[in-house]
Amino acid sequence: MTNRSRNHRVAVVGSGPAGCFTISALLKANQDIGVDLFERLPFPYGLVRYGIAPDHPGTKRVIQKFDEIFQARNVRFLGNVNIGTDISARELKSFYDAVVFTSGAAVSKEPGCLATNLSGVHPAIDFVGWYNGHPDYRNKNFDLNHDTAVVIGNGNVAIDVARLLAKPPADLKQTDISRYAYEGLAKSAIRNVYVIGRRGPAQASFSYKEIKELAELGGCNLMIDSGQLELSPASVAELELREKANQRRIVELFTELVSGSHRFSGSKSIHLRFLRSPTSFGGEGSVENIVLEKNELVGDVGQQTARGLKEFETLDCGLVFYALGYRAQPITGVPFDQQAGVFPNTNGRILSDGQVVPGLYAAGWTKRGSVGLVGTNKRDSSETVQSLLEDLARIEPCHDNDVDEISKLLDNRGVRVINFEDWKEIDALEIERGSAIGKPREKMYSIEDALSAL
Ligand SMILES: Cc1cc2nc3c(=O)[nH]c(=O)nc-3n(C[C@H](O)[C@H](O)[C@H](O)COP(=O)(O)OP(=O)(O)OC[C@H]3O[C@@H](n4cnc5c(N)ncnc54)[C@H](O)[C@@H]3O)c2cc1C
Repeated sequence: MTNRSRNHRVAVVGSGPAGCFTISALLKANQDIGVDLFERLPFPYGLVRYGIAPDHPGTKRVIQKFDEIFQARNVRFLGNVNIGTDISARELKSFYDAVVFTSGAAVSKEPGCLATNLSGVHPAIDFVGWYNGHPDYRNKNFDLNHDTAVVIGNGNVAIDVARLLAKPPADLKQTDISRYAYEGLAKSAIRNVYVIGRRGPAQASFSYKEIKELAELGGCNLMIDSGQLELSPASVAELELREKANQRRIVELFTELVSGSHRFSGSKSIHLRFLRSPTSFGGEGSVENIVLEKNELVGDVGQQTARGLKEFETLDCGLVFYALGYRAQPITGVPFDQQAGVFPNTNGRILSDGQVVPGLYAAGWTKRGSVGLVGTNKRDSSETVQSLLEDLARIEPCHDNDVDEISKLLDNRGVRVINFEDWKEIDALEIERGSAIGKPREKMYSIEDALSAL
C-alpha cells in the first residue's frame, strides 16, 4: 500500500451497495478525497454476494461497477477488518476526517409473540446466508425431510426463500449456490411451501417481477384461493392509487391464476395465504404445526392494518422461516437507535441525543432500515455524501496524517488485511473452481479458506 497525502480522508465501513455508492458519490464530487473502505469479511459486495439469490445472476452484475470504484486511484480496500472488534470506531475516527457507516442490517427481526424452543423454526436470513455460502451461516442445519415448509412474511426475501425451496434442484446446479446447499436441496422432501401474509394481496410488499417468476416456475404450481381475491372496498380504492401500480399488477396476475387460464403441472406447490398472522407453534422438540389467526383489514385507504378475528386454523409443517425485516448491528462507540434498529441520523449525519456527531455518517440499510433494492442505496448514499461535503470545510482535519499508520496498527494486532489485489486472487480462484464444475464460481465458505488460498 502506498502512502498518500490528501486534503481529506474518509473511511467507509462496509463494502455493500451503500459503501460502493458512497465512494462513487465522493469521487464524483472531489477527486482529492482519499477513501479507505473497510469490510469485515475478506469478500466484498455485502448482500450482492450474500443476499441476492443464486438464480438471479443478472442482478449481481452491478459488481463490475463496484470493481471500477475499488480500483480508483485514491481508494483502498481493506478487507477482513471488523470495525468494533479489530479496531474501535473511536480509534478509526482518529485516522480520518469523516467515517461513513454502511455496515448494513443483517440481524433478523424476531417475531416476539412466536418465541419458541422448538427446532425447525429459523430466521430466513440464516437460510439465505447458508445457500449463498456466507461464512457466518455455512454451518447452519435445516431439516428438509418434511413435506411442508412455511415462510412467514410477504416481502421479496420471503419469496426468494419459497422459490429456492420449490425450484427444481437441476435449475440451481449451475448457479453460484453453495455446493452443500445444492446437495441438501437436491435431497429435499419439501413439496408444499406456504407463504403467510398478515394483510391482503393488495398490500403485499413483494414485487410483481418476483411473483411472476414464481407463477412461471417449472415443476411448481403457484396456488391462491379465489376467496382471497375478494377485496374490500378500501383495498379496491387502494389499488387505484398511483403509487400502487406494483400491487395492481400483482392482483391482476392472481386473478389470471385463479381464472383457470393457468396450467398446473408441477409436483411442488407454493400456496399464498393472505390475511393470516401466526400465533403459536405446536410440536414436541421440533415444530409440527403452526397456528394462524385470520385477520381483517381496518383503517383508511392506504393505511390499512390487520386485526385478528379470533378465528384460528392449524397448518401442519416441519420447517418454518420468518422474513420480517432486519436491524442494524450496533458498533460500540457509535450511537444506536434500539427501537428502529438503525444508526440515528438526519440526512446521513449521525445523531447522539438529537445532536449531530461531527464527522460520523451513515448510509444504506444502516441509515434507513432494511427497505429498498440495490439501486435505492444510490440516492440514499448521495444524500449522505451531500451532507458530508457540506460539512467538510468545517470538519477539523484528523491529526494523524500518515494513512499507512492504520495498516501498521492492524498489522501489529495480527489482522491480515485483504487488499483489492488479494481479493482479485481469491475471486479468480473461485471462478476457476466453479468453471471446473460448470458453475460461474465456487465460493470459499470461510475466512480461513480465503486466507490460506493466498
Ligand atoms: C435476502 C435478500 C435478497 C435481496 N435480493 C435483492 C435483489 O434481488 N435485488 C435487489 O436489488 N436488492 C436485493 N436485496 C436488497 C439489497 O441487497 C440491499 O438493498 C443492499 O444490499 C443494502 O446495502 P447496504 O450496503 O446498506 O448493506 P449490505 O449489502 O448488507 O452491506 C453491508 C456490508 O457491511 C459489512 N459490515 C458489517 N459490519 C461491519 C463491521 N463492523 N466492520 C466492517 N464491515 C462490516 C458487511 O459484511 C457487508 O459487506 C436483497 C436483500 C436481502 C436481505
